[in-house]
Amino acid sequence: MSAAVSRQAARAWALEHREEMVRDVMRLVRIPSVAEPAGSGAAPFGPACAEALAEGLALCREHGFSARNLAGRCGVALWPGKRAESLGIFSHLDVVPAGEGWASPPFEPRVENGYIIGRGSGDNKGPAVAALYALRCLKELGAGLEHSVQLYLGCSEETGMADLVYYTQHEPQPVFSLVPDVNFPVCCGEKGILTADLTCRVEGSNLLGFGGGVASNAVPDRAFALLAGVPLAEVEPLLAGAPGVEAAAEGGKLRLTARGIAGHAAFPEGTESAIRSWRPFWPKMRLLPARPPGPWPFWPPLLATRTARGLTSTSGMKFRAAPPTWAVWRGWTGVCSPRTSTCATVCGPTRPRSSAA
Ligand SMILES: [Zn+2]
Repeated sequence: MSAAVSRQAARAWALEHREEMVRDVMRLVRIPSVAEPAGSGAAPFGPACAEALAEGLALCREHGFSARNLAGRCGVALWPGKRAESLGIFSHLDVVPAGEGWASPPFEPRVENGYIIGRGSGDNKGPAVAALYALRCLKELGAGLEHSVQLYLGCSEETGMADLVYYTQHEPQPVFSLVPDVNFPVCCGEKGILTADLTCRVEGSNLLGFGGGVASNAVPDRAFALLAGVPLAEVEPLLAGAPGVEAAAEGGKLRLTARGIAGHAAFPEGTESAIRSWRPFWPKMRLLPARPPGPWPFWPPLLATRTARGLTSTSGMKFRAAPPTWAVWRGWTGVCSPRTSTCATVCGPTRPRSSAA
């Protein structure tokens, strides 16, 4: 910075603009921008993501920054400095699916006890707007920049980061970047994310249907299984040890449904995977072969354990074909950092989640 801005002045500016900033976050949260990897044309991640991107770029322009839409995949707002080399701030406007069990509609944001409640308010629309306001604050308080700053608004962070691939192939890269997408105050680095499909052949299963989970990085709050040849009376004794699971006879078959508590897989504390509720029922499902297929450490019972070696969720299970011969489990290893406390094995004891918004 060629002109310094005092912490006191920045704080006063932030308090003055607090209400306006909350309104801007809510503008974005109202758009249900769950990324669709199979979108097309000007909306490669679906129309809702395209709308969120347009709204995000409009906000940047309203607050005095030039902003560009990069083929509908992402956008960049620029504050030019004396040098072309830039500092990058990376945010994203896509969200994970809302899931069930919300106390109020997830895309009708409201403020409660100082928090904005709504899907995407914390991950990552709030931080995107906070970064924009940080730039605006410095600009309005007269800070001059040595380096340029570019604020990146992505649309596919939750579904594989195809937006970022496009960006790195078409735009000059920042020399240093900040990613306001973890817990406050700072995470020095992510140790890795792995989304994996585990597929195995299943012979002679009595499962007629089986499913749960909507995204690989969301802890599922619902799961179901439809079984043949298992009378209701046979599973009733197991229900006492499986809260959240219900069983009902259905035309000569047995339907099991499980309820859990949804949440982001990177922050599993306080969530309960519905698929994890199946553990007492595995023997009735005749699904698992006697041995894990190959050297995979992620065997389904492990997948259903929240903190096994940093594996934070089992997001989905489904059959690839009917009648079932193949089962697919999709698992997700979460962001593993001292600040996010998802990994008891590598990073030390699990800490309670500090706040959620
Ligand atoms: Zn995020």
